[in-house]
Amino acid sequence: MKCLCPIYQKFYNSLKSINELKATNSFFDNIALVDNFFLEFRNITFVLQKHLQTEEEKIVYRELKSKYLENDSMKWFVEKRNEVSKEKSFELKKKFIVDIYCIKNEKNIISETITIENDDLNSKQINDKIAKILSNIETSEPEIFLTIKYEFLNNTEEIDIHKTIKNGINTMYDFILEFDKKIKNDCKICDKLKGQIDNKIKEYSARRMELVTDCSYNVKNNKLEFYDKADIYYGNKSDNFFYDGYRIPIKDNPIFKSCDTLDEFFKSFIIAHVPLYVMQQHHIMPTFLIFYSDETFSINSYFAFNKATHYRKVNEIAKKIMTDDIIAIMCVNESLSYSARNENIYDKPYKERIKYATKEMLVFTIIQDNLKEKNICFDTSKIDDLKYVMDIIKNGGIQFVDMTLQPIREIFNVKNQKNN
Ligand SMILES: [Zn+2]
Repeated sequence: MKCLCPIYQKFYNSLKSINELKATNSFFDNIALVDNFFLEFRNITFVLQKHLQTEEEKIVYRELKSKYLENDSMKWFVEKRNEVSKEKSFELKKKFIVDIYCIKNEKNIISETITIENDDLNSKQINDKIAKILSNIETSEPEIFLTIKYEFLNNTEEIDIHKTIKNGINTMYDFILEFDKKIKNDCKICDKLKGQIDNKIKEYSARRMELVTDCSYNVKNNKLEFYDKADIYYGNKSDNFFYDGYRIPIKDNPIFKSCDTLDEFFKSFIIAHVPLYVMQQHHIMPTFLIFYSDETFSINSYFAFNKATHYRKVNEIAKKIMTDDIIAIMCVNESLSYSARNENIYDKPYKERIKYATKEMLVFTIIQDNLKEKNICFDTSKIDDLKYVMDIIKNGGIQFVDMTLQPIREIFNVKNQKNN
């Protein structure tokens, strides 16, 4: 067996089904797609078993099966397949979540979750519903930033199926690719199919991003305003999919490998990013660096067309603190400052307010798990001057605390109290 075409085809079929799962589909269509995904996904191994010819292939199969497939998360796929093929269709539930980020003069950020069962609402009706709920919130702010999220859940187990499926897809692909390598597959059509599979996996990442929308609510007009968004994650094992938890060993990174203390990491982080900002015509994507206790780190950069994206990122990263062994979080972000005389600017929506900014700053922050914090803040009108930059790094500059990072402080605090 020097060809895995039938196996790759099954894998491709499963990806095609799950890619068609959409928040705007009817429930019946979505259930059919999920059912079909589970059938095709588990058929991969049935088909592979049928094609095993030599004793050597059988040994490789058994070895890789125990390495990749005999664990609880992969067994879940077998269970679901058996259920949907013999008992009943997948019990799909669509969850609709609205997270609101309330800021008072860029302070006090609250995150609130509302869930609505909305089987039969179209997107306009959903937006009207959100606007109505928001109009009941008492605020002196000109606008409210929010994120609208859809999740597909397994009704009985409350499992986010996209998260589980993403991991299952990665594991199954690793399994097939290693088998492919071990039997020295040299089929050209297999290569073609692999290319198609890579595209489908890319598409799947993009699909999952479509389920999250950042927007703002204009209090005066009682209107939701939408923007574009894009996430970029670094350090992926293949360029083909976005992977937001990838940890890079510090010793493998040219910028950080000679650093011993968090202070030195922070300094290197600044020294690496200031020239980038200058080179990119005074622009940088907001970037988070997360440090873990096992001497690894992960990077998350993103485009923010809207402050809601920044608030969402901060909250997502803050939540990781509870589950992961995070020891410090660094962040670089552009920030605007306003003259104190312009006191009514905070009544204006952000898009209006930025016209009154008197100074643009580039702010670096490090928050450690013990809540020790350091900020280095550059006046961007002087940042092209290397002497100024070095002076600020050495002696500190304008004092500025990034209040948008408040959720991170709060959760470090909660975690500390839990551990004491
Ligand atoms: Zn082939």
